[in-house]
Parts: sequence; structure tokens; C-alpha cells
Amino acid sequence: MINGRKIILAGTNNYMGMTFDPDAISAAKEALDKFGTGTTGSRILNGTYQGHKALERELEDFYGMDHAMVFSTGYQANLGMISTLAGRGDYVIIDADSHASIYDACAMGNADILRFRHNSVEDLEKRLKRLPENAAKLVVLEGVYSMLGDRAPLAELIAVSKAAGAQVLVDEAHSMGFCGETGRGVAQELGVEDQVDFIVGTFSKSVGTVGGFCLSNHPKFDVLRFACRPYMFTASLPPSVVASAISSIRSLKNAHNKRAHLWANVERLHSGLKDLGFKLGTKSVESPIVAVCFDSQEELFGMCQLLLAEGVYVNVARPPATPMGIYLLRCSLGAGHSVEQVDQILAAFKAAQEKFSASETLRDAAGD
Ligand code: PMP
Repeated sequence: MINGRKIILAGTNNYMGMTFDPDAISAAKEALDKFGTGTTGSRILNGTYQGHKALERELEDFYGMDHAMVFSTGYQANLGMISTLAGRGDYVIIDADSHASIYDACAMGNADILRFRHNSVEDLEKRLKRLPENAAKLVVLEGVYSMLGDRAPLAELIAVSKAAGAQVLVDEAHSMGFCGETGRGVAQELGVEDQVDFIVGTFSKSVGTVGGFCLSNHPKFDVLRFACRPYMFTASLPPSVVASAISSIRSLKNAHNKRAHLWANVERLHSGLKDLGFKLGTKSVESPIVAVCFDSQEELFGMCQLLLAEGVYVNVARPPATPMGIYLLRCSLGAGHSVEQVDQILAAFKAAQEKFSASETLRDAAGD
């Protein structure tokens, strides 16, 4: 509801529709009654309850990996992992379109930072080749990039990274839940999980709550619990959040129907918007994010307001969240949207487009 009007939310990270999952809600309520509203402590002091450990075991099971660490947000997971793994004299190599948390992690750590052109295997390889052979290197990638909704060519990027002796961290924030056979992300879908050294993710999207995590098969992974400052120096997640995350992750594994419904929704939106003549972030569907690209901020904000008047909310994305000169209405759908709602979203875009063109014509006629 916005100002008393019912609006369709077409800009959500609730990709798997888990925020109102009955099992996740009852697990959270039970934990709230049993353990209270918060832990009032960090993971390394009094803030590790049985639930936090159970959640780490659940993640290890979900990803089939040896070690998991749960953070209080996904932002902190990136901040902590990247700034702690690479130290002075090491190199961190990131994609130019990396999420803010990855950039902030680089600013926080002591390693030398290099950027390669977005999704360019050739540029990554070139930059890696210039680095000293025996220096430690960490390449940071994302399964799906959050603004344009495009996927990384992970297999190729990982191959050149490994050839240069680098370790690889993949952030699957926008791919967990619906990419890959059991929803582990793009690395699972492409069959390259065994070459990924660290998987980072969040509970704030497909899992439907809040929190972050990292997984690895590195035998000494647990040492990070005593070195990683964004893990150590902040309060741990409330037990109710932990309980709902456990419940959601358990059900995501077998959520094949939801995955199929989500992808059908996205296909419908993407092809409908393309038919209406909008310029989209990706040629075909790559993720539940459908970015509609505009040439100016005026058009971006004009369309956003017109869409709201038509009963649809979408997120506005512009620099610094997007690369320079890119103005987006970032639509994203979830498994909770009905087919009828997707059609309503399309109808709203059509009406907004017509009204915007009419207002432009009027402005031109008035000589503005
Ligand atoms: N990584 C990526 C790629 C993201 O898009 C986000 C959030 N938008 C995060 C990490 C941070 O996640 P959280 O909301 O859990 O802090």
C-alpha cells in the first residue's frame, strides 16, 4: 500500500517468495519465544547460539562444502572475507561492475587492487599475466550482476584465474535459490563449483530474511573466525532470523515448482517489455532482474512516477549504484508474483510509455 493505494511491487529481491513462507514464520516465532529478541553479543563472545551453528551446518549441507561462516549481513560477508583473505603484497582482482560491498572490502584491506572490464575474460587474463608469478591473488566474481541482471561467464573467468594461480571467490547473492539444479547459483548451473574457493551469499534475497555467509573447503577456514573483523566486532543475528533462514534454506533445495514459476514470470516480463520497444539490460533472460535502460535521468524519474500512478513500483538505479551514464528502472520478480500481476506490470509500462511520449510531444510543441 502506498498512500492508501494497492501497488504491485516489481522491484524486489524476494526472488523465491520466502518472506511469508509459513514454515519460516513459525520457526522464527518459536525461536523468538524460546531465545528472545536478540543475542546482544558477537559471534566470538556470547553471540553464538546453537541456531547459528545449526545454520552453518545447514549451509554446508545445501552447498556440499566443508565449512560455513555466518555473518550479520551479506555486505559484511564480502567486507570481511575479501579484506581478510588478501593482505599486504597480495592482489585482489575485481570486475569493474562489482557490488559496493566488494569495492568497500577492497578499500578496507591492505592488498593491491586491480579492476578488469566487466565480464571480459580477455582483460582479466591480460591483467593477471602482468602480476608477479608467485604473488598471492584473489579474483572476485559475481554469479549474477545486480543492476543489469547479467551473468558472469564463470567457467571461462575461473579457467584463466586458475591458470594464473589465483584463488576465486564468487558472490552468488543474486543467483542463490533459482540458478542450478538445487539452487546453489550460477557455479552449480555451469558445473564449476569444484573450482571455486569461496562462495559468498546473503539471506536478504532468496532466503527472505537478513544475514550473510561464506563457504569454503579450505581446511583452515575456521581461522578466519579470529581474524575477520566484520565477523568479530558486530552483534550476531537474532535467533528468530537464524531459525527462519534454516527453514528457508531447507525448503529452497527442493523448490523446483517455485523456480519454474519464477523463470516463467521473468520470461513473460522480459519478452513483453521487449515487444513494447523498451531497451533491456540483457538480450534474453539471464536472471529475475529485468533492467529497463533509459538515456536520461528525466526519462527515468518520469517513467518511475508514471508507473507508480499506474499502480506499479520499480526501483530506480543510477550512478554510483550503476556504471557511469547508465539509468535503469530495475524490475525484479519473485516466485510470489502471479501471471496476472506480470500482465498488470506490462500494462502499466505500456500506459506509462504512452503518457511519457505524449508529455514529451507537448513539451516539444511548447518549445521547451
Ligand atoms: N553482494 C551483492 C552482489 C549484493 O547485491 C548485495 C546486496 N544488494 C550484497 C552482497 C549485500 O547483501 P546484504 O543485503 O545481505 O547486505
